[in-house]
Amino acid sequence: MTTKQRILVSEVGPRDGLQSIQPVMPLEAKKAWIAAEAAAGVAEIEVGSFVPAKLLPQLADTAEVVKYARTIPGLAVAVLVPNLKGAEAAVEAGAHKLTIPLSASETHSLKNVRRTHAQMLDEVRGIVALLRSLPAARRPKFEGGLSTAFGCTIEGVVAPDKVVRLAEQLMEAGCDEVGLSDTTGYANPAQVKELVKRVKAAVGDHALSGLHLHNTRGLGLANVLAGLEVGITTFDSSLGGLGGCPFAPGASGNVVTEDLVFMLEAMGLETGIDLPKLLEVRRILRDALPTESLYGFTPDAGLPLGFVPATPGATPGPQAGAAAGVAA
Ligand code: ZN
Repeated sequence: MTTKQRILVSEVGPRDGLQSIQPVMPLEAKKAWIAAEAAAGVAEIEVGSFVPAKLLPQLADTAEVVKYARTIPGLAVAVLVPNLKGAEAAVEAGAHKLTIPLSASETHSLKNVRRTHAQMLDEVRGIVALLRSLPAARRPKFEGGLSTAFGCTIEGVVAPDKVVRLAEQLMEAGCDEVGLSDTTGYANPAQVKELVKRVKAAVGDHALSGLHLHNTRGLGLANVLAGLEVGITTFDSSLGGLGGCPFAPGASGNVVTEDLVFMLEAMGLETGIDLPKLLEVRRILRDALPTESLYGFTPDAGLPLGFVPATPGATPGPQAGAAAGVAA
C-alpha cells in the first residue's frame, strides 16, 4: 500500500452558490460560513467574485469577505476576477489565488463578459503583468479557468481541440495553471478522462490540477471519479450544492461538498476535512437562506456504521454495537 493521497476540496459555494440565487447573504453570515468550513478542515475557499455590484449584488461585499477570510490561519483565499480591474481589487484585498474564467465557447464569452477570446487573452496578459510587478511574497497564484469546456448551452458541442488550444494560450499568456469547468453540467466521465488527458498532454501534468464540476444531470461524482483516475487532485464543490439548477429541479448546483468529502474519505483519500463538523455548517446556510433548497445525500443518511475516515483524527462513523437497543 502506498501512503494516502491528499485531495484538495475547494469550496466555491460563497461564490458560485451565492451568485446563482436571488437572496443576498448578509456579510456576517458569509463570515460565519467561511470560518466554520475552515474550522472543519476545508483548506481553500473561493469567497467571491470581483464583478460590478450592479451585475451581482450578492457578491458586492467580496473585498470585505476576502479581508476577513485572510485572517483565518492556513486558509487559502480564492476569488474569481473577470478582468484586470477585478484583479487589481483582488490584489488590493489580499486574495491568495485569482481565477479568470475564459469560456471555451466564444458565443458564451461574448454573452457573459462581452469579450472575444482574443480580448480575454489580452486581459490575462494585463493581469500577469500586474502580478509580476508585485514582490514574490505578495503575488497571488493565477489560474485560467476554462468554462463551458465540456459543452455550451448556446453553441452545444465544444470541440476538445478548441479547449486544448485555449489552455495552451492561457499558459503562454502567463497563467500558473489552467482548470477545466463543466459550467453547464454537460460532462460525462469518458469525456472528462479524455479532455483531461489531452489538456495535460498539451500543457504539462503540473499545469492542470483542478476540475470544477456541476451536478446538473446527476453525474457530478461520477465525473470526479473519472478525474481522479487521470490524476486530478483538486475538485471544486459547494456546501449543500447551493444554487441548484433552474432548469433541472432537484439537481444541485455544484457537486455537493458533503457527498464529495464522504466519497473521497471512504475511498481512503485524505481531504483534511472532518465530516460531522462539515455537516453542522449547513445550519448556517439554512438560517441565513431559509428559502433556498440544500442538497446532498450524506447529510440526510448520516455516516455509515463503522465508517473510517482517511484523514487522521477526523470523526469516524458510529461503531457497531453503539446503536440503541443493543444489549450490553
Ligand atoms: Zn460553476
